[in-house]
Amino acid sequence: MELRFYNSMTRRVEPFETLVPGKVGMYTCGPTVYNFAHIGNFRAYLFEDFLRRTLEFAGYEVRQVMNLTDVDDKTIRGSRQAGVPLKDYTRPYIQAFFEDLAALNVEPAAVYPAATDHIPEMEALVQALFDKGIAYKSEDGSVYFAVDRFPAYGRLAHLDRSALRSGVRIDADEYDKEGVGDFALWKAWDERDGDVAWDAPWGRGRPGWHLECSAMSMKYLGESFDLHTGGVDNLFPHHENEIAQAEAVTGKPFVRTWMHCAHLRVDGQKMSKSLGNFHTLRDLQGKGWSGREVRYVLLGAHYRQPLNFTLGALAAARTALARVDECVDALAARAAQSGAEGEALPSRLGDFGRALADDLNAPEAYAALFAAVRDANKALERGLSPAAAKAALDDLRAMDRVLGFVFFGRAAQAAVPADVQALADARAQARKAKDWAESDRLRDALAAKGWQVRDGKDGQTLKPLAQ
Ligand code: AMP
Ligand code: ZN
Repeated sequence: MELRFYNSMTRRVEPFETLVPGKVGMYTCGPTVYNFAHIGNFRAYLFEDFLRRTLEFAGYEVRQVMNLTDVDDKTIRGSRQAGVPLKDYTRPYIQAFFEDLAALNVEPAAVYPAATDHIPEMEALVQALFDKGIAYKSEDGSVYFAVDRFPAYGRLAHLDRSALRSGVRIDADEYDKEGVGDFALWKAWDERDGDVAWDAPWGRGRPGWHLECSAMSMKYLGESFDLHTGGVDNLFPHHENEIAQAEAVTGKPFVRTWMHCAHLRVDGQKMSKSLGNFHTLRDLQGKGWSGREVRYVLLGAHYRQPLNFTLGALAAARTALARVDECVDALAARAAQSGAEGEALPSRLGDFGRALADDLNAPEAYAALFAAVRDANKALERGLSPAAAKAALDDLRAMDRVLGFVFFGRAAQAAVPADVQALADARAQARKAKDWAESDRLRDALAAKGWQVRDGKDGQTLKPLAQ
């Protein structure tokens, strides 16, 4: 299976190649843990999860590294306002992030390095840049990367080098391509930083955001690795600067393939914390939507196309997922029957794989899934052999390993909101105590929240009510 991906570096869809056959080293820019991640951020993390599962489907062994940005202007500001040490401020948001990833059924990365645990690695990189004559210290004690001293600066962002402003220093994390200046590797301490500071040989301060990803990716994946991902807003300056910091020191190509997902939008605008137009996963769970429904919506558009988020799309996801669930249940029932009579089914797995290989074409992959469901439903009506039902289930299981909607073993894994789970737990207690009236009342309370409860020999299972 030959995978073809759009590489932001070459601006072409090209065959995906790795340094070591069969293995992929993948780095994913992770969250800044000063608040709850919003579903725009999760669009990026789900695209990356889909990419990783596609690589695994194609037979690669993937080592994924995702950083946690736990020191920057925003985390420091938050911890100072809350009056707690930085680590105490970021810890609950890191915890919440992992809970959200689990609810969205995102496969865990191999390592989640936190910036504050890697200050020595970052200092070593700054020192190496001093040694090469590319880093310099400004009057205020901050250390900058001199972009005009690194001839390859601007490759990923396709910058016109005449945009480089030598000696102009840019302190902010975001800036546009028109006036590109030197970027901060190390920010000198000032009183707004409180006690967040490290003593480096060139002075007291803290690392710049870009530096952390170069230092940690090379630590865990080597000086050159295969794949680096993020949202389009990471392209410039963040990823451009990562390349500069790494390649200026090693003299080796940093990353072969760069992939970026387009933004999630609301009412035609980027969903972002600064615009205040965002939903967190928790908000949506509180309204009765499940992680798998959010996952279905966020993965459904091609990753390079902007996606406009609506609650209506979640309702459509609920219906679509229920169709597949019902088909899986019916196929499982048929597969459990004896006898060999009935018709066979064509496999849609080839179409599914071709869609993935074609630059992660999610809409086509969904189409292959629903074609398989349509075929199966028709054949079930006419009489499908148990062996064919088993084969159809195997196909759906293989598709679900990539899509991650958990059509199998749902009861155990369904992401149930905490309030719904609490009602279900109370109902289980009531049934143990043989309080049938209370049990029925709780069943109705669950239904009012959009959940159906079923009692089986292994206890009760919860299922979202199809709308
Ligand atoms: P941040 O915590 O802002 O550094 O963002 C974490 C990740 O989410 C990065 O990969 C961003 O590119 C991505 N991201 C931020 N906002 C959006 C959005 N509205 N749609 C898609 N990805 C986003
Ligand atoms: Zn990064």
